[in-house]
Amino acid sequence: MRPKRSRDDTISAIATAPGRGGIGVVRVSGPLATDIAQGILGKLPQPRQARLANFLDSQGETMDQGIALYFKAPHSFTGEDVLELQGHGGPAVLQNVLNRCLELGARLAQPGEFTQRAYLNDKLDLAQAESVADLIDAASAQAAKSAMRSLQGEFSRQVHALVDALINLRMLVESTLDFPEEELDFLQAAHAKEKLDAINAALQALLARAKQGALLREGLHVVLIGQPNVGKSSLLNRLAGDEIAIVTPVAGTTRDTVRQEIQLQGIPLHIIDTAGLRETSDSVEQIGIARSWQAIAKADIALAIIDAVQGLRAEDQAILQRLPANMPLLHLYNKADLLPAMPKDEKLYISAKTGLGIEALQQRILDLAGWRQTGESAFMARERHVHALQQAAACLQRADQNWNQLELLAEELTLAQKALNSITGEFTADDLLGEIFSRFCIGK
Ligand code: GDP
Repeated sequence: MRPKRSRDDTISAIATAPGRGGIGVVRVSGPLATDIAQGILGKLPQPRQARLANFLDSQGETMDQGIALYFKAPHSFTGEDVLELQGHGGPAVLQNVLNRCLELGARLAQPGEFTQRAYLNDKLDLAQAESVADLIDAASAQAAKSAMRSLQGEFSRQVHALVDALINLRMLVESTLDFPEEELDFLQAAHAKEKLDAINAALQALLARAKQGALLREGLHVVLIGQPNVGKSSLLNRLAGDEIAIVTPVAGTTRDTVRQEIQLQGIPLHIIDTAGLRETSDSVEQIGIARSWQAIAKADIALAIIDAVQGLRAEDQAILQRLPANMPLLHLYNKADLLPAMPKDEKLYISAKTGLGIEALQQRILDLAGWRQTGESAFMARERHVHALQQAAACLQRADQNWNQLELLAEELTLAQKALNSITGEFTADDLLGEIFSRFCIGK
């Protein structure tokens, strides 16, 4: 196993969000935390006891007054000596406190470096460390809850249980390799095949839950096709319902193409609006439109919104023809409330205005996305985790085809175990670690 090694220098950062706030926190972690406490507070606070203190500059003048908290290693978030200075939440005052920490020997922390140290000091495994960032980034209550479940180790525990079962099976198979005559009988008596089947079943169940978690985190990319006035904004507002992030336009790459985001049962839907996709001779606009098409090609679902009274227009048809053939597509006939009578066909009639058919539509979208409201709640997982679980599943499948070549079977079991270990970080390359932690915010 790659030995984990924490750095022995001391890091510091403002841990609260930039801007003005009621309080602001400067964090310090590393061996100099005690000296820095001495330098700023004049003394080292009792570990784990909140104390009102003056924060002093190099001249002994008070920069701020607030709460000082000291956590002695290893009983801290990072596993190192940690000092937290909770002062007033203004950018200038926090910068003064941070500068003083740097003066006293700390260096500025990289993004995610506190959490990285927690990981390196075995306070968290890699999947838990990632869920720290996912919890901070969570855009819905459901996403936050599932990130918390992962942070508390639910996902990791299930991965570890699979790894333990795999190790047991490996030991069984590998111990028979030395006694070739008896190997199959022995394995049969030990129910090796049943054990492999059970591991496989547990892995598939875990994969299904991880996919739900990945959906909560990554969301769905939805292409919205429909001309102006057909009711796109009204529909997005209707779909979003009571969710907080109701139709927030984000500046798009072209003047006309706008991206928006809504939430459906906590799943972020990233909406790519095609209203601006028109023939143009403006070269800047052409670049933007080409980019939009690239995004469209990668989307998960397309929704074509059609005026129930006017029917499909030529502009929409042109866009529909360019969609990838395998992209799930729903035709929605909006403004059905204006029809004299409800037609008796299978089309999806809706009204963004009255709410007609919206619940059915929401369900159709969630079904297409593979979202299942199972009894078991999702935990936050990333594409990386889903990929590793799929890799492990493929190894188990190959293992199962090699009962007559036990060396190969044992090798596949080892590979499956490695894939699972990469989730919790037992065998994770340094460059991947660097990439994961660099996406955190500073101070976390
Ligand atoms: P967009 O340009 O496609 O985003 O369309 P809007 O959502 O702005 O809607 C255009 C107009 O159609 C507005 O006046 C809406 O109130 C109206 N509208 C949208 N959906 C419906 C609907 O289902 N029924 C009726 N009667 N009017 C609708």
